[in-house]
Amino acid sequence: MRAMQLERLLHAQGFGSRKECRALVRSGYVSVAGTVCDTPHAEFDPGSSDGSPGLEFSVDGKVWHFRAQAYIVLHKPAGYECSHKPTFHPSVFTLLPAQLLERGVQCIGRLDQDTTGLLLLSDDGQFIHQWSSGKKRTPKVYEVTLKHVVDEAFVATLLGGVQLHDEPEPIAATACVLTSPTTLRLTIREGKYHQVKRMIGAAGNRVEALHRSRVGGLELDAGLSPGQWRWLEAADLRQLA
Ligand code: URA
Repeated sequence: MRAMQLERLLHAQGFGSRKECRALVRSGYVSVAGTVCDTPHAEFDPGSSDGSPGLEFSVDGKVWHFRAQAYIVLHKPAGYECSHKPTFHPSVFTLLPAQLLERGVQCIGRLDQDTTGLLLLSDDGQFIHQWSSGKKRTPKVYEVTLKHVVDEAFVATLLGGVQLHDEPEPIAATACVLTSPTTLRLTIREGKYHQVKRMIGAAGNRVEALHRSRVGGLELDAGLSPGQWRWLEAADLRQLA
């Protein structure tokens, strides 16, 4: 990638308008590779033209790496809405640093307010479109806690397909296993509105808790606590596909 002026580089990473970034640099808050640089027009090779980590810089002591594109996984806690304009609960975007919001990061698909687990976010429009459209039919794995005890007949019903009232055809689970008398591991390929809750309802039960543990080959990290996020690296993006 071509060299970039420091003020432009910071602006691209969500640190404010060009003017704000210029002031940040002039005030001596910005270091590049460990050395303070107070010249807004000093040029650096950003070292990344995709989601990989490039040039190391710090703003007010916090270290960042330039990333031309942002790909993120968040462990969504319960009680947050996947919306910039939430109605009743705080937005998941309040869990991310301001720089990521400034970059225009969006949710890829939505989880309900009370659903927990793996949520993907990005500022790459093409990636968001590809992954939100549903055309990819990527398997998504949910850990489902049910109100009433079930048996293998219930699993067979979900695998055989259930009729949702606004769908022309029955929808079947891709995979479904009982993990206890009241819990299921359910895999679906579509991303329809309240799909898991409606499928469980159509099969005669009720969802008490819902957690997304996997999307494609990408599993939610055991070390990522609810509310925490991390960058997705190239290997993670390959896992998704
Ligand atoms: N299905 C649901 O019903 N809710 C979610 O949040 C995700 C899938």
